[in-house]
Amino acid sequence: MTAPYTGLDQETRICAHCGYCQAVCPVYDALGWESSGPRGRMTAAHSIAGRKPADAQASRRIYECTLCGACREVCPTRIDTVAAWLETRKRLAEAGALEELPLGRLRDNLAATHNVTGDAPENRLLWQENLEPIVKPVSERKHPERSGASFCGAQSKDATLHDARSASFDCVRHTTPNSAQDAPLRSEPSDLALNGRRGAAIIYFVGCVTGLYPQGHPIAQAMTELLTRAGADSTTLGDEESCCGFPYLGLGLPAEAAQVAAHNVAAAIALGAQKIVTTCPSCYHVWRDVYPELLGEPLNLEVLHASELLARWVTSGAI
Ligand code: SF4
Ligand code: SF4
Repeated sequence: MTAPYTGLDQETRICAHCGYCQAVCPVYDALGWESSGPRGRMTAAHSIAGRKPADAQASRRIYECTLCGACREVCPTRIDTVAAWLETRKRLAEAGALEELPLGRLRDNLAATHNVTGDAPENRLLWQENLEPIVKPVSERKHPERSGASFCGAQSKDATLHDARSASFDCVRHTTPNSAQDAPLRSEPSDLALNGRRGAAIIYFVGCVTGLYPQGHPIAQAMTELLTRAGADSTTLGDEESCCGFPYLGLGLPAEAAQVAAHNVAAAIALGAQKIVTTCPSCYHVWRDVYPELLGEPLNLEVLHASELLARWVTSGAI
């Protein structure tokens, strides 16, 4: 449990230099230099708090931190170290450190194209181009034992236990085919309306790495298959999706992070969504924990990581 953050100057004075944090820092573990661990960073941050210019080596050490927060968990003086690292980066960015380090390009990509790679925004949809036809949810397929039963629990006398458990899961389409014979077996990719469909209950927030690196495309494709098989009423923000803002925070540019937070939340609300689901842990973290802080108000959207949604579905029997 951390104490309320009191500002970089004060927090870096509180640091007792005990070194408990060194033992848990993955960067210190990998590099081994005092300056690459949190205790060394505290010393550098104290100097930066006193407005002393940081040399390129000290700046690099500050930006090498992954912001994992392990040091915050063990600090006996309850310093919110992550807040300290973010404030240090903000001060470094204001002093021009991004130009000295090769980070200006990332900032410029984010400003110009709203993603980390500098790709055109419409490239966010490339992963959708080779989606395979997806088998439809069991509720929409021929299923003699359950014909006439709704996936969400409007059950006939033939309804099974599986149907009853499914009733506990929301955002799954209420589908009761009149005739099991005429229910299609597959969803064609072109029918999925994945590019900002108004009225969908769930928005899958894909993220820059998943959407724009070909290595990440199978993640988005697998998630789409699961959403479709479960019969979830879902879409994406399509080319309206902007970087989640975590890279801006990491660069020390919180005002820019707040701008993209406002854009993404407005785009999701404009579509009428109730839930956001992510497969990227950083997107999940900023949507759930940082957006309300940046925007100064609750989101009125439920934010879930894919693993949480899948756990619900497995429990309810939706998949
Ligand atoms: S654990 Fe806390 S008090 Fe100890 S060196 Fe690290 S930041 Fe300073
Ligand atoms: S937040 Fe940074 S300094 Fe702290 S343990 Fe993680 S990598 Fe190390």
